[in-house]
Amino acid sequence: MPIASVNPATGETLETFEALDDAAIELCLSRAESAFRQYRTTDFEQRAALVHRAADLLEADQEAVARTMTEEMGKPLVAARAEAAKCVKALRWYADQAPALLADELPRREDVADAGASDAYVRYRPIGAVLAVMPWNFPFWQVIRFAAPALMAGNVCLLKHASNVPRTALALEDLFRRAGFPEGCFQTLLIGSAAVEGVIRDRRVAAVTLTGSEPAGRAVAATAADEVKKAVLELGGSDPFVVMPSADLAAAVATAVRARVQNNGQSCIAAKRFIVHEEVYEPFLAAFTEAMRALKVGDPMAEDTAVGPLASEQGRTDLEELVEDARAHGARVECGGRRPPELDPGLAAGWFYEPTVLSGITPRMRVHLEETFGPVATVYRVADLDEAVERANDSPFGLSSNVWTTDGAEQQRFVRDIEAGGVFFNGMTASHPALPFGGVKRSGFGRELSGHGIKEFCNITTVWLG
Ligand code: NDP
Repeated sequence: MPIASVNPATGETLETFEALDDAAIELCLSRAESAFRQYRTTDFEQRAALVHRAADLLEADQEAVARTMTEEMGKPLVAARAEAAKCVKALRWYADQAPALLADELPRREDVADAGASDAYVRYRPIGAVLAVMPWNFPFWQVIRFAAPALMAGNVCLLKHASNVPRTALALEDLFRRAGFPEGCFQTLLIGSAAVEGVIRDRRVAAVTLTGSEPAGRAVAATAADEVKKAVLELGGSDPFVVMPSADLAAAVATAVRARVQNNGQSCIAAKRFIVHEEVYEPFLAAFTEAMRALKVGDPMAEDTAVGPLASEQGRTDLEELVEDARAHGARVECGGRRPPELDPGLAAGWFYEPTVLSGITPRMRVHLEETFGPVATVYRVADLDEAVERANDSPFGLSSNVWTTDGAEQQRFVRDIEAGGVFFNGMTASHPALPFGGVKRSGFGRELSGHGIKEFCNITTVWLG
């Protein structure tokens, strides 16, 4: 894939970039190595000052950063502004919280004595340069949620961003440079995916984190395993959104729409499979379909646009194939299921797709098991709680889940049985710096955010004093 910034709303190529050659990659790796040698010795106060400065700069740049994201990958501008604001919050949160999260851990006195020590403690030390292979869907947020904890832990960062968001990738590097981080602490490598393996294998790279598709995760994790290096994977999701009879139906419908079409439907934690109890199935389906049909599709720069284009032509083709396969196998297309016929002529070449609701899903259809990365919802009718749990778990993925019920016993049943890294009741899944984020099954392993995230890339060091 060429490294290029192409506007998905118009198909216009904005800028193309040369990939780094071997000599340039070598220079970046050697800079990372020397930066780490010095940066690892900084204290929390020094790191926090730099991270706070990055937050302040990003806050001041919010509008420009948001426009860059929207131009490159098509998310509505309103959402891009919110993404930039969320990044500011995460930077500040880690700057303030990292010292407590990574404070020395003291075992119980009796255990220290039992280990034959006069004293013992656990120190969280940095591990080195961490490579982040990142996707285009939240092009600032995915990187910041990795970089803020990594930098506060004393690591240095190498970013291999998706090839369709090079301007955002360079804006990120520029942000950390202007914040005052020493040269080499945060570097963007403009490289294609074929060059990733060599970077992971380089002795100066300590670990890798990837957010993206299952094939990309498998390739990266295999190389990391071969080199005995730590990997964190945040892959796809096909999150269930369960609606039980006790739910506030109007609120569930409104949230279901937002949870499905956020980021033009291209979010790993978007609700994708709507599993509805038969007592409320008909009214839910009718209201949900009506609300999905009413969404305004169009220019992502317009303030009132709810759904912009998909980020790539391939992404739209993949989605169309899933819908056509479902249609061919007997699914009912309640709304959408096509490209929007009436758009501004300037947007005719953009990669738009109508918000779509499919019902009558059977296991023979690809949508039953595959991730729909666009504004397409599948709706299932279930007879009871047992079937709802079974249906929710009937997926190769296990990222997060949403359950609408006010019944405490039902809630506990989901907490016990759902095969996912999160369960959100009467709301929709959203990430927050203080809450761990990640999945089970084919959604990957390891956690981002919170204390769990920052410790993923630390050398958890036992200090024992005789
Ligand atoms: P990819 O997984 O291909 O891209 C994500 C990142 O991984 C990019 O930086 C990409 O680089 C890199 N990459 C891809 N293949 C390899 C490889 N073999 N070795 C090393 N790095 C690699 O996602 P796509 O953009 O192609 O999207 C395809 C599907 O993936 C989506 O439809 C969706 O289902 C899923 N996805 C899930 C995301 C999530 O948030 N969980 C995010 C994005 C996609 P490059 O761009 O240069 O190829």
